[in-house]
Formats: sequence, C-alpha cells, structure tokens
Amino acid sequence: MPRESKVARRTRAAQVLDGLRDAYPDAGTELDYRSAFQLLIATVLSAQATDVSVNAATPALFARYPTPAALAAATPQEVEPFIRKIGLYRNKAKHCVQAARALLERYEGEVPASVEELVSLPGVGRKTANVVVSNAFGVPAIAVDTHVGRLARRLGFSTHTLPDEVERDLQALFAPADWVFVHHALILHGRRVCTARRPACERCPIASLCPSRQL
Ligand code: SF4
Repeated sequence: MPRESKVARRTRAAQVLDGLRDAYPDAGTELDYRSAFQLLIATVLSAQATDVSVNAATPALFARYPTPAALAAATPQEVEPFIRKIGLYRNKAKHCVQAARALLERYEGEVPASVEELVSLPGVGRKTANVVVSNAFGVPAIAVDTHVGRLARRLGFSTHTLPDEVERDLQALFAPADWVFVHHALILHGRRVCTARRPACERCPIASLCPSRQL
C-alpha cells in the first residue's frame, strides 16, 4: 500500500471525525461527578477499572468525603471500604488521600486547571490530568488511554505505543476544538465496536476510512 501523504491523512481524519460525530453525537465522559475535585478522584479511581464500578462507589465516598479537606483528613485505611470493589483499591485509596493533601498544601484546596500542575499531584498521570482539564475546565486535550491508543494505531493515525506520542500525533491531525470529542468518541468506539480482541469491522461506521478493516 502506498505511503499516505500528510494531506491525505488529514483529509481522512476529517472524514473519520464526521463519521464519529454521526455515530456518537453525545460522546462524553461516563464518570459521574459534580465538581473538578470529584472528577479528579473519580478519574484516579477509574484507572484499569470500569466507569460503572467507579460510579457505583463514588456517591457514598463523596458523601463521606465531600471536599479535599475532608479527604485529606482521612487515612487510606478509612477510604478503602468505600472503593473496595474497584481494582487496585489499596493503592488508589493512598493516592486519593495524598492528592487531597497536596491540593490543600499547594493549591488552597482547589483543583488546578493545567496539566503541568495536575501531574505534580500523587497518583495523577498525564491521562488523568487531560481528562480533568478537558471535562472540568474546557481546556482542549486528548487523553490517551488503551482504547484511544489502539484506535489511533488501527486507523493509521499513529505508529507509536507511548501515550504521549500518540497524543502528539492526534493533536497534529485534529483541531483543538475537536480534541475532547475525539477522545470520548474513540473510547466509545473502542468499547462498542473496535474492541481489542475482536473488532467488529462488519458493522463499523468508519470502516471505509480504516486501513485495518477486516472484511
Ligand atoms: S474498520 Fe475495524 S479496525 Fe477499523 S476502526 Fe472499524 S472496527 Fe476498528
């Protein structure tokens, strides 16, 4: 197959974006939250766990610890029972408490609105920071999780496996105003159609634009 030019790839990316908008017009985060603080904690909890399991746990967690100050005053052992059904809960309890303490100590109890500041918090990686700035503060960002990375490679938009590099490739292909939608839509497409083990190419709405389609 001849190498695709940059112009051709950008054109195809725009067509993929149109297809994703048609297929997932309401794509957005599936985590439940009411504040930047709640979104930060929910996103930390969601690493390698389903959004459903996080949403089942957070109402009681946030009722008991409604603010960074309340969570910072807790011990990880006190937090653990609230999140016991979420994978890696012991580490996550530690990270949530440490992050709340750092918010109090360094940011007067407010969640900072930049990726650089967020990744300085314990347990907060670039993916989590991108989710928080884009959903809570409307900052253009593409968080790259396992679905976004896999889809970017299958669609021929990136050859990289490192999330930071995939993020850069996607940012170069799409306009900043579309980054948040691209993130959410690729996650939905990865969950519902283009799954890791068995992509359902026969019912994929963007199959005609995908170099990896298996028909
Ligand atoms: S055609 Fe297949 S591999 Fe390509 S995006 Fe659709 S489901 Fe995934």
